[in-house]
Amino acid sequence: MKLTDISELGEFALIKRLTEKTKIHHKETIKGIGDDAAVIQQNNKTTLISSDLLIEGVHFNLAYAPLKHLGYKSVVVNLSDIFAMNATPKQILVNIGVSSRFPAEALDELYAGIHKACEIYNVDLIGGDTSSSQKGLIISVTAIGEGDKDKVVYRNTANEKDLICVSGDLGGAYAGLRVLERENEVFQKNPEIQPDLSPYRYITERQLKPEARGDVIKKLKEHNVIPTSMIDVSDGLSSELMHICKNSNKGCYIYEEKIPIADETKVFAEETLIPSTIFALNGGEDYELLFTIKQKDYDIVKNMPEISVIGHIEAPEKGLYLCTPDNKEIPLEAQGWNTFDKPKDTEQKS
Ligand code: ADP
Ligand code: MG
Repeated sequence: MKLTDISELGEFALIKRLTEKTKIHHKETIKGIGDDAAVIQQNNKTTLISSDLLIEGVHFNLAYAPLKHLGYKSVVVNLSDIFAMNATPKQILVNIGVSSRFPAEALDELYAGIHKACEIYNVDLIGGDTSSSQKGLIISVTAIGEGDKDKVVYRNTANEKDLICVSGDLGGAYAGLRVLERENEVFQKNPEIQPDLSPYRYITERQLKPEARGDVIKKLKEHNVIPTSMIDVSDGLSSELMHICKNSNKGCYIYEEKIPIADETKVFAEETLIPSTIFALNGGEDYELLFTIKQKDYDIVKNMPEISVIGHIEAPEKGLYLCTPDNKEIPLEAQGWNTFDKPKDTEQKS
């Protein structure tokens, strides 16, 4: 029998294959696999749970990621999944695997970042596990949050004609990663040359120290706007739109010139001769929120500077399209990251 190569399968197909026989035994399990977080309902209390795994050499490179930032980021990426369900994170558990190459002082730094994130996002570190690892550092964080039963927002509930919105700007974290990799390569070849990252401060920070958009969730709530569907942007706009549309059985239409991209990202994209739209569509790790709203909420959302309306939801047979400024319609493809790519390059995967 020919064995299946997981790099050909890809991350999403592998998860599907491993989990399709999953049985749910408890009525309290409202949502299991398939969204940003699982949803558990006990009496009147709605609990959200999400987990992520970060592995040295796959998700981060300690040549340029300071441990304190890494600790902060490993918490933030989990909180982002709880916010993406329109809920509030309350607790985290942290599991680490550490090789003997790390002195305790290095792990103190990691935890300084973890504690900082707990303080800023008002969450409690309540436990975890610690193990040795043969090689490198492994971090897994689980976040627990609380939501309102009727206000939890899923990926599969977008409706035709809903408006597609995104917070902040996109593509910056991937541009930052490319800068850091480029400068690290120069430094490895010639340690005399100290990298000057000052022209790229914003995008490198987007990569090393992202934030989760709890502020956006709070603001929408203050204005009584409940998104009709939502996901966080961890794998690039294209892949996340695909998740919303596929799960909601819909199509979509977005306008290229409406996609928010920071000036620094555009400048770096020009240097690499890759259109900045590609960074936004296929880059990862922006941790912004992608969501849909009813048309009636447009007048409220249009006045929120942190939110861009980039298109609308269509009938499923219309497919998923990007419209360029010269009115060309380009079909969107799920690029995203493929964690199981053969190691042809050194890029990070999520
Ligand atoms: P996200 O990018 O929001 O973190 P993922 O794409 O990693 O989400 O996961 C999609 C869904 O699959 C989630 O519901 C997640 O809990 C589930 N999942 C991922 N890996 C596994 C696994 N090994 N076993 C069971 N469920 C998994
Ligand atoms: Mg997510």
